[in-house]
Amino acid sequence: MFVHCCHCRWCQRETGAAFALNALMEADRVVVLAGSTDAVEIPSNSGKGQKISRCPVCRIAVWSNYAGAGDAVRFVRVGTLDEPDRFPPDVHIFTASKQPWVVLGPDTPAFPGYYKTRELWPKESLERRSAVLGK
Ligand SMILES: [Zn+2]
Repeated sequence: MFVHCCHCRWCQRETGAAFALNALMEADRVVVLAGSTDAVEIPSNSGKGQKISRCPVCRIAVWSNYAGAGDAVRFVRVGTLDEPDRFPPDVHIFTASKQPWVVLGPDTPAFPGYYKTRELWPKESLERRSAVLGK
């Protein structure tokens, strides 16, 4: 539905890098090709916690679920997909804590904190979001 590039300190710590790149997808559209995932609960930037689903073999985090959208929306780690190039960021968030050497292009919206979904997401994505969240 939408791709977040999150520059918050928590994502920096969690990835060990400068940001996290997450594609927000409806849970029922995410097809696991083999095996299953192990979920672990960890704290999150919001204080409400997040659930990270990891590959049971290599332990790489493949998606997270956050309190806001619950289990209905998976924040899929773009770098774990077979074709990550298909998911460039639609928005940069929490740029207030962005690493100074990360230079953002002028064509992607960027916000010091979070943003208003209804003001940024395309109509089709908003409809998909409403359908999956039931609101
Ligand atoms: Zn973050």
